[in-house]
Amino acid sequence: MLPFESLVRANIQRLTPYSCARDEFKGRAASVFLDANENPYNTPYNRYPDPLQEELKAKLAKAKGVPAKNIFLGNGSDEAIDLIYRIFCEPRLDNVVAIAPTYGMYAVCADINDVEYRAVPLNDDFTLNGDRLLAAVDDHTKVIWLCSPNNPTGNAFNRKEIERIVTTFQGIVVIDEAYSDFNDLPPFRHALDVFPNIIVLNTFSKLWASAAIRLGMAFASEEIIALFNKVKYPYNINQLTQQQAMRMLDELPRVNQWRMTIVNERRNLLPAFAELPICKAVYPTDANFFLARMTDAESIYHYLIDRGIVVRNRSRVQLCGNCLRITIGTPQENNALLGALRQYR
Ligand SMILES: *Cc1c(COP(=O)(O)O)cnc(C)c1O
Repeated sequence: MLPFESLVRANIQRLTPYSCARDEFKGRAASVFLDANENPYNTPYNRYPDPLQEELKAKLAKAKGVPAKNIFLGNGSDEAIDLIYRIFCEPRLDNVVAIAPTYGMYAVCADINDVEYRAVPLNDDFTLNGDRLLAAVDDHTKVIWLCSPNNPTGNAFNRKEIERIVTTFQGIVVIDEAYSDFNDLPPFRHALDVFPNIIVLNTFSKLWASAAIRLGMAFASEEIIALFNKVKYPYNINQLTQQQAMRMLDELPRVNQWRMTIVNERRNLLPAFAELPICKAVYPTDANFFLARMTDAESIYHYLIDRGIVVRNRSRVQLCGNCLRITIGTPQENNALLGALRQYR
């Protein structure tokens, strides 16, 4: 891994972060808070939330098996994705390398930050091609974006191939594991000590069934977490979100039940879907969705819309011609999908 001085933008290294009232006063108990120009009424919403979300991170550390000092929390994974560009990539000078097809936000955030985005196709069977990815790297490549299980293809990549990229590349490798809860593969967040140049992304939006509260996680070395904390907005996670996330973390049995139901539904739905005459292929998935190649994705998509069922039409995405991406729903929803498609003419 390159030294931080050559990986981190100079303005970020020089940056003096905003110092908020709750940063300066810490520790000793106080009962009169006249330091932040808050309104004394309307408890508890009158107070600024904890800028570093320490209580929530302590709970999360237990649930995820990652020390709190290695956790950053963002307003969705989207915030972490954007911060990675702002910390490491000099606009119009640096570039990033990513797999294609993959999650759209990596490219959108590159465009917003005016950073060159080098999209490198996966193999035809959606497996990872490390050599092709590494061949796209040059001296100005700061970040490689990997997503495993990948969206929209659904498959997790070979771990040895990911490790080879992580150990060969001298910059930052992001491994987005938004869907890692839906398989039994060992997650990379437990390997931060072995691979100091990785940033692992997780989210409350999928398994934790909390997309509405906007809470994403980044797991990384203490040095990288310190950079995130320096650049983020001071109160990026609001109080309602912190409270609701803690409530969810107290409901682990219920969440595990959801996991089992969804994985079980996936096991039932995939073979039934593959038997539909209009389905040409169902691709292997390690996530809570699957990609299916259809005879005519466009018209099947609109046929489903007419019946009140919305799936994602991915047929204009690289390597995904005539493909639909379908989320695993409740047993009733999955049956409604199959029932509608069996009547497609
Ligand atoms: C859904 C998804 C996310 C979640 O993003 P949030 O901003 O946390 O809701 C992240 N990465 C991938 C690949 C996803 O598909």
